[in-house]
Amino acid sequence: MADFSGRMYAHLVGSGFQALQCALLASGVQAGVPVIVPTVTCPSVFHAVKSVGAEPVVLDVAADIPLLAADLPSPDRIRHVIVPHMFGLVRDLAPLIDSGYRVIEDCAQAQRPLCDSAAQLSVFSFSPTKLQTIGYAGAVVTDDPVLHARMQHLLEADEAVQCIEGLPFRLHAPVSDFQCAMLNEQLRRYPQTLRLRHKWMERYDQLLGEPDRMHPVVPFRYQLILEPGRDSRAFASAMRERGVMAWPLGSSLLHEVFNIPGEYPNAERWRHQLLSLPLHEGLDERQLQRVFSCYQEVSA
Ligand SMILES: *Cc1c(COP(=O)(O)O)cnc(C)c1O
Repeated sequence: MADFSGRMYAHLVGSGFQALQCALLASGVQAGVPVIVPTVTCPSVFHAVKSVGAEPVVLDVAADIPLLAADLPSPDRIRHVIVPHMFGLVRDLAPLIDSGYRVIEDCAQAQRPLCDSAAQLSVFSFSPTKLQTIGYAGAVVTDDPVLHARMQHLLEADEAVQCIEGLPFRLHAPVSDFQCAMLNEQLRRYPQTLRLRHKWMERYDQLLGEPDRMHPVVPFRYQLILEPGRDSRAFASAMRERGVMAWPLGSSLLHEVFNIPGEYPNAERWRHQLLSLPLHEGLDERQLQRVFSCYQEVSA
């Protein structure tokens, strides 16, 4: 994982959730500390913040991309931010880091070498729905020897030595040799996985006539931008009734899941606009044709 990500240190853990826990604790996030998260993300992100006693501050996403917006509360007030690169779309982190935020980058949906990333801590997930999976598991990577040492300490739950300052407990988050063997194979196959996913995205483009869509850096989702007046929720459920697993948006909205008051107009607009079609390296032409004819039927 260190080689793959281009970082000096990698820690494998039992899930993406545990990778976030580990990254938060290593960054010094403790009880009561506010941590910014966007509303468009996986509920695990919210739960991971809660699990270390910290307070998730759920914000709307940007108008031009369904990722965390650039206008955040001042870093003097809220210092810690988790930035999930949702759907394979990648947010440039350098401006946030230059402004003084401490950023944890969540690459669960944008697994890639991190040469484009300024993040100090990046997490990965290998859950069944991700680009590379080994059943479950996750990873945290960093170039910082201090963060690395803190994570090493955190993950040694068998150690009798007392906890060190700022790390009030340890995490037991093991990964098995079986999983590691699978990870080696997944990493070996990754270029092929990307190639096939790009191929199916281009094939969708041809069939659908170069539609308006999102252009992710990592081919995790194929998301169409529906015309105004269409609702992706109704569209996706009509496709599902016909046996094709389309998704409106492709993520939950944390403010809805956790009943958080506030205004989230951009997230809600994205949810109505974006329709996610099935994408997997294992698709074949016949299946793509089936998705396409289902799409046409529902469009008509
Ligand atoms: C899947 C996912 C996670 C959680 O990973 P698990 O391995 O399922 O715990 C965290 N963040 C994002 C953006 C995800 O998509």
